[in-house]
Amino acid sequence: MGYRLEIEAFNAILGDLRRNFRVYAPVKMKGKGAFAGTDLVAYGEINKFEEIVFNQRSAYSAKEIVFKPVETMFYFTENEYQQPAVQSQNILIFARPCDINAYKRLDEIFINNGPFKDSSYQQQREKVKFILMECGEGFDSCFCVATGTNVTDDYALLVRPTAGFVQCQVKDPELKPYFNGLNENIEITPRFIEKNQYTPRLPQNINNDVFNSPLWQEYTSRCTGCGRCNFVCPTCSCFTMQDIFYRDNENCGERRRVWASCMVDGFSEMAGGHAFRNNQGERMRFKVMHKFYDFHKRFGYHMCVGCGRCDHICPEYISITKCIEKLD
Ligand code: SF4
Ligand code: SF4
Repeated sequence: MGYRLEIEAFNAILGDLRRNFRVYAPVKMKGKGAFAGTDLVAYGEINKFEEIVFNQRSAYSAKEIVFKPVETMFYFTENEYQQPAVQSQNILIFARPCDINAYKRLDEIFINNGPFKDSSYQQQREKVKFILMECGEGFDSCFCVATGTNVTDDYALLVRPTAGFVQCQVKDPELKPYFNGLNENIEITPRFIEKNQYTPRLPQNINNDVFNSPLWQEYTSRCTGCGRCNFVCPTCSCFTMQDIFYRDNENCGERRRVWASCMVDGFSEMAGGHAFRNNQGERMRFKVMHKFYDFHKRFGYHMCVGCGRCDHICPEYISITKCIEKLD
């Protein structure tokens, strides 16, 4: 059972939720698109239901709420360091099944991948609950059904917009009090997409020959190394560290972590100047094998959640689905 609410009533609940949670959703950012005069759909904190963009895929994923593009890890002086205060408020994120499943992959990397946990990620991640957004027809270049990430039960609340109303299913007991006094007046369960516009064949038996395959050469000539495919990916988790020294006292500063891209020149460069991957073909091979081979070997499922963002954003029309179909 669930609720069919007028938008005003839902906004009243959202207002109550915002007393205890920071609430994020895909929103339209005017004039921030890649081309002049275009808008960007990306994650932002919301006040009202009407701000949420339901009918477009966000260009950037929900990962940036917990794993931020730029994050100060600590401040330092000559003799001591201090970590920034941890945001204490809990977090609600409107997210589609692929992005919820992407968080599961990030959890593997940051929390479950050996003896050391990433405390910065974990502290924020433990505060997160998801509000499920359904996908309807999906979007061009999505292939979540092939990767099995079209479904999830990891959500606290389902929110479905219908003409002039909001339908909700409250799954998490912690959120039930926010709906006190309202009658459960509809039957509602999540609808998950069952067929994408395109279904790629995922690699089943990659063998070592693929590492030396000539197929990667195409990417050396085509890819510009812009890194956009990494930055939109909800599962890319690489970062680099930067020490920032303040101008008025160069003995003080802060250490930041900043998203990094395995497709960008310099990513694998070591002290002394040696680099492991010197051309875009080798970088594409690394990215694709990480998403569809070595992560699978370690955790038993593909890292890629089939959101299709990398295909959509690439200025050279490089398609990860076309690539993986050549792997075995
Ligand atoms: S590799 Fe591409 S399709 Fe897969 S999760 Fe990342 S952005 Fe989405
Ligand atoms: S978005 Fe396209 S061109 Fe840019 S690094 Fe990725 S594959 Fe290369």
